[in-house]
Amino acid sequence: MNGFPDLRADFPILETGVHFLDSGASSQKPVPVLEAMDRFARTSYANVHRGAYKLSVAATEAYEAARQRVARFLNADPDEVIFTRGATTSLNMVAFGWGMQHLGPGDRILTTVMEHHANLVPWQMVARRTGATLDHVPITADGRFDLDAYREKLDERVKVVAFTGMSNALGTIPVTPLIASLAHEVDARVVVDGAQLVPHRGVDVKTLGADFLAFSSHKMLGPTGIGVLWGRMDALEEMEPFEGGGEMIADVTLHDATWAPIPHRFEAGTPSIIEAVGLHAAIDYLDSIGMDRIFAHDRHLTAIALERLADVPGVRIHGPRDLEDRGGVISITMDGTHAHDLATILDEHGVAVRAGHHCAKPLMRELGVAATARVSFYVYNTEEDIDALVSGLRKAGELFGVG
Ligand code: PMP
Repeated sequence: MNGFPDLRADFPILETGVHFLDSGASSQKPVPVLEAMDRFARTSYANVHRGAYKLSVAATEAYEAARQRVARFLNADPDEVIFTRGATTSLNMVAFGWGMQHLGPGDRILTTVMEHHANLVPWQMVARRTGATLDHVPITADGRFDLDAYREKLDERVKVVAFTGMSNALGTIPVTPLIASLAHEVDARVVVDGAQLVPHRGVDVKTLGADFLAFSSHKMLGPTGIGVLWGRMDALEEMEPFEGGGEMIADVTLHDATWAPIPHRFEAGTPSIIEAVGLHAAIDYLDSIGMDRIFAHDRHLTAIALERLADVPGVRIHGPRDLEDRGGVISITMDGTHAHDLATILDEHGVAVRAGHHCAKPLMRELGVAATARVSFYVYNTEEDIDALVSGLRKAGELFGVG
């Protein structure tokens, strides 16, 4: 190993012996996260921001402590941290809450061809409703954000640039600060889909350059059902609430309502309270390892996997083949084999990888494939997982008569 701690004992599910290589879809949960949620539910649970009784005060404190913890993780102001249901909700909130207010005919929205549907479909919907047009930055031959094409597409009609912080299908990490500063030169707002980036690489919103950043807890060792929309305060102030209901108002009459201050304005209804406690514990866990070490570990495994996969007959790697600006996600296909069949054979060898379009159908079309098998690493993976993957792939190749 590369000096990275062996954390497998913290993840009960790994006792099943699975070589879990699908953290890009959702990560496993360590004991401290499970225990924090259990403890809170047993001792301190009530609804938040409502009761004057002690349990509700304790629950509110825990919920707001989670917000502060997220803020510290991102080097943000706690008021800029909005809890949502996940990255998808966060991105819809920006597209509808900001886009419906600020986009109109003649305006342009710029995304990329490698977006997850969560950062594409909402913009299609908002473009249709506002009359704005949607355009896409292409990728280069090795699957990177095409900066030259981006520069050509940028003009003062572009009002928003929405792109992935790290591609869930290719592992590519676009250079956000540069892309953002170019967007800001034409006064466009910058939306970063951080669903893959934030779990794997330390993010400081003061230097990232984004105006909005979306991510999910379940991909960063936390529970499902909660995610974050971070926004710079001036950007959040430009946004209308996407949902109305309890908790988000200052006053309501039969015909009108005024909004609570940010961030509560954007958190209508009972939030995911136990899950906020779990996310807090997940961030503590990640920070106790150190985000720099986590990123280095992902890349260490990626380097080994890229080298070893290149030797497996019939295997093709889609996306960057070196470590420059990429994280621990590798998409592969095997000649003459469907990605789903490949994943099924790997499963028979105890290796869990995802097969499909990875909610990035336009990207699959760009790559000229129907689907890929995707390997993704996280803190609990080791070189043994790569051994199992490679040996499973070789067996699949023999079975399908490849090479
Ligand atoms: N964006 C990217 C890049 C993703 O990988 C995902 C999850 N696959 C999402 C957005 C959506 O996240 P969620 O399903 O947690 O809302």
